[in-house]
Amino acid sequence: MATPDPIPIPTEPIGSIPRPRDLIERVARSNSEDPELAPLYDAAIRNTIERFEATGSPVITDGEQRKYDNFATYGVHGLPNTAPDGFTIAFSDGHTRRLLRLTGGPFRYARYADCYLDVAMRYTHLPVKQAVISPSVLSLMYPAESIAGYSREQFIDDLLREHETDIRRCLNKGAHKGQVDFTEGRLAVKVDPSGHLLNSFIDLNNLALSRFSPDERRRIGVHTCPGNDFQATHSADVDYAELLPSLFELKAGNFYVALAGEPDRRHVLKIIRKHRKPDQRIFVGVIAPSDPRVETPEEVRDRVLEASEHIPIEQLGTTDDCGFSPFFDNTSTSRDTAFAKIQARVRGTALAAKLLGVQT
Ligand SMILES: [Zn+2]
Repeated sequence: MATPDPIPIPTEPIGSIPRPRDLIERVARSNSEDPELAPLYDAAIRNTIERFEATGSPVITDGEQRKYDNFATYGVHGLPNTAPDGFTIAFSDGHTRRLLRLTGGPFRYARYADCYLDVAMRYTHLPVKQAVISPSVLSLMYPAESIAGYSREQFIDDLLREHETDIRRCLNKGAHKGQVDFTEGRLAVKVDPSGHLLNSFIDLNNLALSRFSPDERRRIGVHTCPGNDFQATHSADVDYAELLPSLFELKAGNFYVALAGEPDRRHVLKIIRKHRKPDQRIFVGVIAPSDPRVETPEEVRDRVLEASEHIPIEQLGTTDDCGFSPFFDNTSTSRDTAFAKIQARVRGTALAAKLLGVQT
C-alpha cells in the first residue's frame, strides 16, 4: 500500500459499509447473535478494514459490519423488554423503517459500541472512529402512554447514563472520535414544524454532552443528514435553515454535515458560516452515497474549495454525506462503489489542500 501524502484538511468517513451478501443471507436465516456467525462477521470486518486502508483514508471504521439491525438500534436489539412496533420513519420512496418500542423498565443497553472497536483495532494500526446513536432517537422508544412503574423521567435518566457509557467506553479505548449519529434532527422539524421536538432533542443531547470535559468533547462529533436508505431520504425537503442554527448549539467539537447531495450547497454553507462556533470543526459532506455515480477527485476538490470560501481552513474537514449502508440488509450500494467513493474523497481532499497551500 502506498503511503498517502499527509492531508492537513482532516477527512473521515461516517461509518457504515454495505455488508457482504453471504453474511446478510446467513443472518436472515438464523439470528444476528448466532455464535456460528462469528467467523463470517470476522471475515467481513477484516476485509472491510483492508479495503478501507487501501483507499488511503487516514481514519477508518469497521464499516459497522456487526451493527444489527441498524445504526440506531444496535445497542437495544434483542432486549426482552422491547416490541417491534415503535416509531415509524417514512422515506421519500414510500418505504418505512421502525424503531423498537420499550414495553417495560428499566432501560439498559444490551451491548455498547466499544465491542466493535475492540475487534477493529485488532486488525489495523490506523485511527478508528466509532459511531454511537444519539439519546434523542432512542428517546422515541418510550411510548406516548406511560409505562406502569417506570416513568418517562426514570427512562431519561437511564437513557442518558447508558449513552454516556457508550461514548465513554469508546473514548477510553482509543477511538479517534466518538460520533453521535443525529440523523433525526431534520426529521424532527418535519414531524413537528413548530420546532418543539427539535428543541427537546437538542436539550436532551446537550444534557448528555455536558457530562464530558472540553477535552473529551474535542473527540466527540455529531452527524446530521436527511436519512439514507435505498437511495431515499426521510427529511431532505426540510430546509437546513430550520436545523443548523440549533445544531451548532450542541456542545460537541465536531460536526459531520451532509452537503454533497444538497440541491443548493452555497445556501447551506452560508448558514454554516453564520452559525458555527469558533471551537467547532465542520466536516462537510463531499460524497453523496445516494448517488450511484462515483465522484471524481476533481469534483471533490471543487466542493472542498467551495466550502473553504465559507469555513476557515482551520475549522474545515471533509466526510461522506452519510454511511453507505446504515441498515444491515441494504445492498443498494455495492462495496466496490462505496470504497471507490471513499478513495475519491481522500484524493479530492488532498488536491484541494494542495491548492489551498496547506499541504505540509
Ligand atoms: Zn447519515
